[in-house]
Amino acid sequence: MSEHDTAETSGTEPGGPAETDERDRATIHYEEDADPAHIESETVAVLGYGSQGHAHALNLRDSGVEVVVGLREESASREAAAAEGLTVVTPVAAASEASVVSMLVPDTAQPAVYDAIEGELEPGDTLQFAHGFNVHFGQIRPPETVNVTMIAPKSPGHLVRRNYEQGQGTPGLLAVHRDATGEARETALAYAHAIGCARAGVVETTFREETETDLFGEQAVLCGGVAELIKAGYETLVDAGYSPEMAYFECLNEMKLIVDLLYEGGLSGMWDSVSDTAEYGGLTRGEAVIDDHARENMEAILEDVQTGRFAREWITENQAGRPSYRRLRAAETDHEVEAVGARLRELFAWAEAAEPTANEERAEDERVQADD
Ligand code: NAD
Ligand code: MG
Repeated sequence: MSEHDTAETSGTEPGGPAETDERDRATIHYEEDADPAHIESETVAVLGYGSQGHAHALNLRDSGVEVVVGLREESASREAAAAEGLTVVTPVAAASEASVVSMLVPDTAQPAVYDAIEGELEPGDTLQFAHGFNVHFGQIRPPETVNVTMIAPKSPGHLVRRNYEQGQGTPGLLAVHRDATGEARETALAYAHAIGCARAGVVETTFREETETDLFGEQAVLCGGVAELIKAGYETLVDAGYSPEMAYFECLNEMKLIVDLLYEGGLSGMWDSVSDTAEYGGLTRGEAVIDDHARENMEAILEDVQTGRFAREWITENQAGRPSYRRLRAAETDHEVEAVGARLRELFAWAEAAEPTANEERAEDERVQADD
């Protein structure tokens, strides 16, 4: 392909040693790299109508692609999809009609849904994912005659839909696990084009890299790391005799201001915007928090992801009815910082009136996926 941002296509394993400081840069595709013809003549089955499902279905439809939504008979999302004028049938019927099947039910439900629709996959069909977990960890093993691709928008579904409607795009990832037809990448790119991702840029990756970086990121940094950092900071202040309210403001509430700065301008944007005192204090003290021991722990977390140990644990946990998950979730809700936060967030009621909060946007998403 000639239309790439960089000529180099990575042949090295992700995470493997780089020969120089300059790691291989990922290839990024844009609208002009996609040929919509690869999807315009196909029927796409969108299985699931939650966060991603509703956005993909509506964007594909508005891009002129024939869409059929696959939902269980008892699914509460059926009404929402039908109200948009979409054809709604069972997942099996949808897969039977379609040549591109987009698997957008929750990751934990995908293996069972796949088992039900497998018989409807014909040679040359494309099985399309938005996350690599089940394929990478062997929970779904499609026949060799079928393309297996991934277009994973880097945003929740309501933004994928809203950006599309506003003429903008949402960046996404593209991966090809199996190219059975010789045109799997073209089909995936056309899909990305139709849901609006190619307007913003589609970054080429692999199922392995997407799955492993996604799991590592949410465990070590985004969800697990941040939650523990907040609780540890909060507890340190409260244990030293400071008021829970002050500890909440400093360690949780202000996180948003910092994250907004990081999102807009990266680390330098953040350092530029805080005071010189905050900058000097952070630059000299931050490494004491994330010290060598914390980094070793991160490496161990990554190893659990890479070896599949985490995946096996989570699969077993689901098969057992999620006992640990329920217990941990309840304990987190019971943490003192939650009670303090609930009281203090009422002081910020004015902010909610001014702009829709992430919680309200999530509520909007949850309305569409209420039937889980
Ligand atoms: P979701 O939970 O929002 O929606 C799931 C949908 O599937 C709902 O419509 C639900 O009714 C339906 N469903 C549930 N169980 C089902 C079953 N057994 N049979 C048929 N339908 C069933 O899911 P989501 O967050 O949109 O995730 C879908 C995929 O997209 C996942 O692979 C996820 O990893 C990926 N993804 C999600 C996001 C995100 O921000 N939400 C971002 C990128 C990728
Ligand atoms: Mg993720």
